[in-house]
Amino acid sequence: MSAKARSSLEQYRSKRHADRTPEPMGGTSRRSGKRRFVVQKHAATSLHYDFRLEAGGVLKSWSVPKGPSTDPREKRLALRTEDHPLDYVDFEGVIPSGEYGAGAVIVWDSGTYRNLAAREGKKLPVAQGVSDGHVKVWLEGEKLRGGYALTRTGQEGEKERWILVKTSDEEADARRNPVSTEPASVRTGRTVEDVGEDA
Ligand code: MN
Repeated sequence: MSAKARSSLEQYRSKRHADRTPEPMGGTSRRSGKRRFVVQKHAATSLHYDFRLEAGGVLKSWSVPKGPSTDPREKRLALRTEDHPLDYVDFEGVIPSGEYGAGAVIVWDSGTYRNLAAREGKKLPVAQGVSDGHVKVWLEGEKLRGGYALTRTGQEGEKERWILVKTSDEEADARRNPVSTEPASVRTGRTVEDVGEDA
């Protein structure tokens, strides 16, 4: 892991007790050839979906209360959260009560993605786009496919407010609503309620 990736995970580590949460602390997963993404369904105090993109040696992360849509007309609020370690892409389990983010987590969708952001014909690195407030990617997931755009719109307290929206392309489908019709983990087939019963 690069020094830059390590320092960008300081906030992640400072919020968690490594000896009390089953969440990975980073360092075991190497960068893979293809960029990965994951959407984790997280039954914390309020249910939300964590949207994460592999970039700069970490997972750039947003918390999306309503989850991603496949309908380009639906703008979904996405609050930027701290960078997560790469090995978090596979995390499914229960964060114990009393710990940060307590509640069940499942891998709701995962896959690889391509960076679509460019300026004057040159590809713009995703990590740069996150700093600049504009990210555009093509997802190849099991539930989510096609273009998605993330745009920073402002600040809410300490958190950056972004909007997550499906772009208009052949994978857009206003009739699908995978957040409600496809609730199970793509990794284990379990629901967040199933996993919560392990607590
Ligand atoms: Mn979360």
